[in-house]
Amino acid sequence: MSAPILSVRNVESYYGPIMAIRGVSIDVAQGRIVTILGANGAGKTTLMKTISGVMDPEKGAITFEGDEIQGREPHKIVERGIVHVPEGREVFPLLTVEENLSLGAYTRHDKVQIERDRELVFSYFPILAERRMAEAGTLSGGQQQMLAIGRGLMAGPRLMLLDEPSLGLSPRLVQEIFDILARLNREQNMTIVLVEQNAAAALDLADDGYVMEVGRIVMSGSAQDIAASDDIQNFYLGVQ
Ligand code: ATP
Repeated sequence: MSAPILSVRNVESYYGPIMAIRGVSIDVAQGRIVTILGANGAGKTTLMKTISGVMDPEKGAITFEGDEIQGREPHKIVERGIVHVPEGREVFPLLTVEENLSLGAYTRHDKVQIERDRELVFSYFPILAERRMAEAGTLSGGQQQMLAIGRGLMAGPRLMLLDEPSLGLSPRLVQEIFDILARLNREQNMTIVLVEQNAAAALDLADDGYVMEVGRIVMSGSAQDIAASDDIQNFYLGVQ
């Protein structure tokens, strides 16, 4: 494997006295799609928050493009090139689609490039262009998820962390959004880390995967190998 764009080494993060991730290490190669699977409470969201600086790890190191970034403030990590699209979308319901997108570019000053990225977002999500003046709260769940991803793209990232983008969406919409993620990966060379409970769709999209249980990584490998393993078939893919 070429040198990873992101490397997480022996990271521990706590909520007060509760250790939510317990010595986690992952590597993400440039240009790959990596999925992190696991049941509710396994620590997936905590891992994403620790990478994006929303939480500080108690121990361990996180390296992005050769720089140690653990403990930096979230906006510094966005500036550095990592964007986190959180679970539950969290768009601003009373602001328009366009205003939500502009907020995604808050760490940037290059107006020409920002305008180019807005057009890029509209080319991947034409419905957002159609509804650019609508308040985000009036969008459907799928459209809000598209807006959350579009807002992330407005930061001009090289690595996107996506927390459960399929949550609450119909299988058709999940497929539509995952197809767009595949195109962003292919056409924009975007590296993607995807946390998912929808293991089947995620393993189908991803190149590589990790499985978390109770704060630890218990399996890693190619998405194909993970999908073929008996435990994953029984517990995550529901094959009898
Ligand atoms: P989910 O899919 O439900 O979000 P997850 O795999 O993302 O699950 P985390 O949300 O990272 O899991 O949670 C990991 C552990 O940390 C769980 O035991 C959870 O109860 C605990 N935890 C999460 N958030 C908090 C919090 N704000 N305060 C205290 N404990 C928390």
